Amino acid sequence: MHTRPENSARHPEPLIVPRSEHSISRSSIDPDALKVLYRLNRHGHTAYLVGGGVRDLLLGKKPKDFDISTSAHPHEIRKIFGNCRLIGRRFRLAHVYFKGGKIIEVSTFRTISEFNGEDGPVTSDNTFGTPWEDAFRRDFTVNALFYNISDFSVIDYVNGLEDLKKGLIRCIGEPEVRFLEDPIRMLRGVRFASLLDFDLDAESERYIREKKDDIWEGATPRILEEVIRMMGRGTAARAFDRLRELNLLSTLFPEIDQHIRIEGADVYSDVLSKMDERFHTGDTLQPWLIFACLFYPYFDFIYRGNSGDDLAKLARDSVSPISRRIQVPKRMQDTIRQILAAQVRLFGIRDHRFKPRTILRKSYFEDAFKLFEIVASPTTEGQELIGEWKKLQGPRPAQKPAVKKTRRRRKRGPGPPAATPTG
Ligand code: ATP
Ligand code: MG
Repeated sequence: MHTRPENSARHPEPLIVPRSEHSISRSSIDPDALKVLYRLNRHGHTAYLVGGGVRDLLLGKKPKDFDISTSAHPHEIRKIFGNCRLIGRRFRLAHVYFKGGKIIEVSTFRTISEFNGEDGPVTSDNTFGTPWEDAFRRDFTVNALFYNISDFSVIDYVNGLEDLKKGLIRCIGEPEVRFLEDPIRMLRGVRFASLLDFDLDAESERYIREKKDDIWEGATPRILEEVIRMMGRGTAARAFDRLRELNLLSTLFPEIDQHIRIEGADVYSDVLSKMDERFHTGDTLQPWLIFACLFYPYFDFIYRGNSGDDLAKLARDSVSPISRRIQVPKRMQDTIRQILAAQVRLFGIRDHRFKPRTILRKSYFEDAFKLFEIVASPTTEGQELIGEWKKLQGPRPAQKPAVKKTRRRRKRGPGPPAATPTG
């Protein structure tokens, strides 16, 4: 049965779902995160798994990271963990280090988000708070669930479990207030809605449509980071559609929005869907490849209109304005331009003016070829060109080491027949 604990009269009481009634198993939690939780708990502190980790576990997805919130103050956290560093200027976060460079982030319960735009010194009086306050400073209800290591229950102060069931990304509190505090939350809302294939609540959608240009009030590096995270997790095509629906595309990438008005959005959907497929086959999408995919249809459009011009200049003219607006770092812009300009060479393998082998040695070749596979594969001719380039590259080093044959005991019934190559 769900119980509500005795709580101070000041705050609404949370819904507490016992272990027997939710799906989070300790076996799906990172063992090092578990160690940190247990150790904090043994030292008498409240310790919760929080944020996206809890959300993803409840949805049966593999979390990207496991963040922890605790009643322990930073100096107490540092005393408990030898392998720990305090970071951050205003809110002192603790990073606990493990083998292989793994970091578990531990933060003390806070009263306000570090992104609510308040400047000035923050003393420990107004920095650290209760679990209730820590839940309410978060952005969306599904991101504010806690997993309590002391009894393995899930604690819900904000109706996040209900929204998780409904498939809804809903602001904690009034969207107007929360988006004004931190306009980047508009992009985060789109990111989570597309990542989870959830709806954004109607009030947030209305707000975003109206105030979309306010995102520039936020720090541009955070805009860049959110765009990369939105596009790099295998749901970029969906994110692109959401950005269009909410008119955020015209704010972030006006050139692309203009292009779509002329030639339609299908070409973007096709490229981004293929990029998503690569992600789902285990490929890590580097930010420069993400942007090269996103900008390719626009670059191609500009190239078709000016194919007599200098290629490097065309690439610069098409990439610079779009990427400058979101402050893509200069070196990454250079790589994006090189990847895009290389497409003309890659499509032109049969054009005898080019010496195809020179491009094979370029540092950007591997990423350029990834984009080429994405944009050329839909047509038979494109597939032939991909084949020709592969032949030119020669045999590639084996991707995976040969698997040693081991005898496995079958669990249940005969398995599927081994896959055999077909002609
Ligand atoms: P992902 O799986 O993509 O990492 P996440 O939910 O962990 O998703 P993060 O950006 O890593 O997202 O943030 C961790 C948590 O911190 C969020 O779940 C949310 O509770 C809180 N948070 C992050 N950014 C904000 C913000 N701008 N405003 C309020 N809360 C935030
Ligand atoms: Mg995270």
